Formats: sequence, C-alpha cells, structure tokens
Amino acid sequence: MNIVVTGAAGFLGSHLTKELLMKGNHVIGVDNLSTGKISNLDTCFESKNFSFIDYDVSDQRVIEVLENYKVKIHGIYHLASPASPKFYQSAPFETISINTDGTRNMLELAKRKAAKLVYASTSEAYGDPEQHPQSETYNGNVNTWGPRACYDEAKRLGEVYCYEYYSRFGVEVKVARIFNTYSAGLRNDDGRVISNFITQALMGADITVYGDGSQTRSFCYVDDNVRGLQLLMECAEATGQIINIGNPIEYQIIEVANLVLELTGSSSSITYHPLPEDDPKVRRPVIDKAINLLGWEPKVDLKDGLMHTIEAYRRNLIFQ
Ligand code: NAD
Ligand code: UDP
Repeated sequence: MNIVVTGAAGFLGSHLTKELLMKGNHVIGVDNLSTGKISNLDTCFESKNFSFIDYDVSDQRVIEVLENYKVKIHGIYHLASPASPKFYQSAPFETISINTDGTRNMLELAKRKAAKLVYASTSEAYGDPEQHPQSETYNGNVNTWGPRACYDEAKRLGEVYCYEYYSRFGVEVKVARIFNTYSAGLRNDDGRVISNFITQALMGADITVYGDGSQTRSFCYVDDNVRGLQLLMECAEATGQIINIGNPIEYQIIEVANLVLELTGSSSSITYHPLPEDDPKVRRPVIDKAINLLGWEPKVDLKDGLMHTIEAYRRNLIFQ
C-alpha cells in the first residue's frame, strides 16, 4: 500500500511510519518539523520505501505536491498538528490552520485519489467533560474563550470537515478521538505530563504537579494507539464514524507522579503549581465502539509502559 502520513516526524507519526514500513508499505511522510524532529525518522530513511517531504500541510499547494507522486494513494493518516498544550498555545494560529485548512487539504487529496483517511482528533473535543466517562455520543463542554480553544475547537472543526467530505463526497473518512498517549519518543521538553515527570525524576529536579493533582487522565501506550489507528484505517464498517482510541484506566495526576518516583527510584520532591486555565478535571474514554467495531483494546498497562519509557529516557539522557 502507498500511505501518506502527515506529522510523520512527530511522536505518533514516527512510531506509525516505522510500523507501516515494517509491514512492507510505501510511506510518504509530510512534516514541516515545527514540533517534530527529523531524527525521529532516522531508521525510516534507511528504507527505499520511505519518502519525506518538508512541507506545511496547511498550505493548499501540498495537494498538488502529493498529487505529483504519480502513484495510487491508498490511505492518508492526517496527524500533523502540535499536540502539547505548551506548543499549541505558543502557535495558536498555526494550530487552527493545520486542523482546519490542513484537514481540508488532506480530505481533498483523499477525494481526488479515492484514498481512505484517518484524522487524528482528540479527547479535547470533549473539553472539560460534564459526562464521565466520555463516549463518542457526548457532545462535549468546550470553552471557545480560553488558551485551549485554538486546539480543541480547531480539532472539532477538523471533524466537521471530515463529516462534510464523507457525507457530500463519499470520502472514506474515519475520525480517531485520541486520548493521552505516551512512550519514549516524546521530547524531553515536550511539556506533557509523562515526559515532564520522567525527565524531572531522572534529572533529580522537582516534579511539577499542577493544581492539587486530583485531576485525572487515562494513558495509552503508543504501541496500542498505533495498532488502533491501523485497525481503524482498515475497518470498512468504521467509515464515517468517530471512535475513541484510548486506555480506559484512569489515574489521578498525583498517582502518576508517585508511580514515576517509585519506578525511577528518584529522590525528587513533588512541588505544586497553579492549575492551567481550563485544564479538564477528568478524562476517561468509553471504548465499547473500538472493541466492537475494530476488535481493539489496549494491552499495555501504565506501569509496564512507564518502565519501558523510563528506560529509554534514561538511555537518551546518558547518551546526551
Ligand atoms: P507531535 O507534536 O509530536 O507531532 C506532530 C507533528 O506534526 C510534528 O512532527 C510537527 O512538526 C508536525 N506538524 C505540525 N504542524 C504542521 C504543519 N502545518 N504541516 C506539517 N507538519 C506539521 O504530536 P503527537 O503527540 O505525535 O500528535 C500527533 C497527532 O495526534 C496530533 O494531531 C495530535 O493532535 C493528535 N493527538 C495526540 C495525542 C497524544 O497524546 N499524543 C492525543 C490526542 C490527539
Ligand atoms: N500536568 C502536571 N504537571 C506537568 C504537566 C502536566 O501536573 O508538568 C498535568 C496537567 O495540568 C493536566 C495533566 O497533567 O492536568 C495532563 O497534561 P498534559 O499536558 O500531558 O495533557 P492534556 O492536559 O492535554 O491532557
């Protein structure tokens, strides 16, 4: 299969690209390297089945660039977008563009090439949820007037574009609402909770818990996520549907901090800092739809996933 992966140099995109190449696919990775790193793709460049285009997916000309590859495109994974609050809040307009114009560009390409498309949406589409846990039928509680809106609302509009291309043009679209995903490969300076806590614990720095740490998240290991995205792409029955991809086991952030301290053997102290504005208080996916339609559920629990992640971070820090 010939597959386009936007955001290929990012955390999820690089894991997915490696997996797709390993299975014998041809992958065209597109990334403007705004938050991703070309070094994430080092092993991919060793494959003759991999091409890379350094391009802004929000720019309409990307359609022509990709059309110029005179090959059939079977599938498009549209993953390009900053994902960490730290990065999307420092580039709000770019974040809005990549999830709206960028999504439309990839849908247009899918329409012209009769390709299937998986859009990486987010659990942030539920905002600060008033229904718990969150199933795909919950319409969310998102604030348009705050620092997270550029990401949350842009993802929601990205979903709207998917709906329109599906219902008007019959494009085979599937939307993944991805819940917090982690593993090695997250940048040390990514700013998301797992990379922060592990980096801090290994460096002997204070563990920065925001708020009192009672807010919850549900953490999915990257291998489970990437398997879910591929099953979604392959599942004809999931066409025109939104599906949660996440681990339904929920943790308080303070529990994660203590688990990281235990697993690293670090003597770092926990310090408390103001809770960022609009930080969701709870988050846990209902994954019945993924189980029933895709036969997918996560296999890696947080402790095992963290142990792998900590080992990889430790090796990288020693190397650096
Ligand atoms: P990431 O920041 O590591 O990767 C995103 C990639 O997109 C980067 O390589 C970046 O350079 C690229 N990119 C950004 N804007 C671009 C543009 N205009 N043109 C081309 N490339 C561009 O983030 P990630 O964690 O790998 O997330 C990937 C996708 O999954 C994002 O769409 C994100 O919203 C979604 N998602 C991720 C999570 C998670 O926990 N990792 C959760 C929910 C949703
Ligand atoms: N968080 C924290 N300390 C950090 C980074 C994040 O306590 O150093 C908290 C953050 O306030 C949020 C949770 O961890 O409640 C998850 O944050 P992250 O940025 O990883 O993802 P998101 O908020 O988008 O789910």
